[in-house]
Amino acid sequence: MAGEPQADCLFCKIVTGEVPATIVRETDTTVAFRDINPQAPTHVLVIPKVHYRDAADLAAGDPQAMADVLREAGEVAAQEKVDEHGYRIVFNTGAGAGQTVWHTHAHVLGGRGFNWPPG
Ligand code: AMP
Ligand code: ZN
Repeated sequence: MAGEPQADCLFCKIVTGEVPATIVRETDTTVAFRDINPQAPTHVLVIPKVHYRDAADLAAGDPQAMADVLREAGEVAAQEKVDEHGYRIVFNTGAGAGQTVWHTHAHVLGGRGFNWPPG
C-alpha cells in the first residue's frame, strides 16, 4: 500500500532506528539526519516517515507529509544557521538526475556558495 514501510529500504530502516544515523531533528512525520557523504559544510537529509519513491509521488500521495518535509528543511537551515546566507533544497528525482535511494529525501545544503545552473 502507498506509504507503507518497505523491508529493503535504507531510509525506512533509519526511521525505525534499525540503521543508525546522526539525527539532527525529528517530528511525528519526519526525520532529519546528516548525509554520510557530505557535499557542503551543512548537508542534512530530511525524509518523511512514510515511504514514497520520490518527491512528486509523495506530493501526490501525502501532500501534508510533503509540506512537513519542506517546513523541516527550513527548520534545519535555521538550526544549522545557513538560512541567512542562503541554502539549497534538492530532490534528485530519477537515476539520470542522481537519485540512488528510492525513499523521498530533501537534501538541505548550505555553508558554501552554489553555482547556477547546477552541475
Ligand atoms: P540521492 O543520491 O539523491 O538519492 O541521495 C542519497 C543520499 O543518501 C546520498 O547523498 C548519500 O550520501 C546518502 N546516504 C546513503 N546512505 C546513507 C546513510 N546510511 N546515512 C546517511 N546518508 C546516507
Ligand atoms: Zn523507505
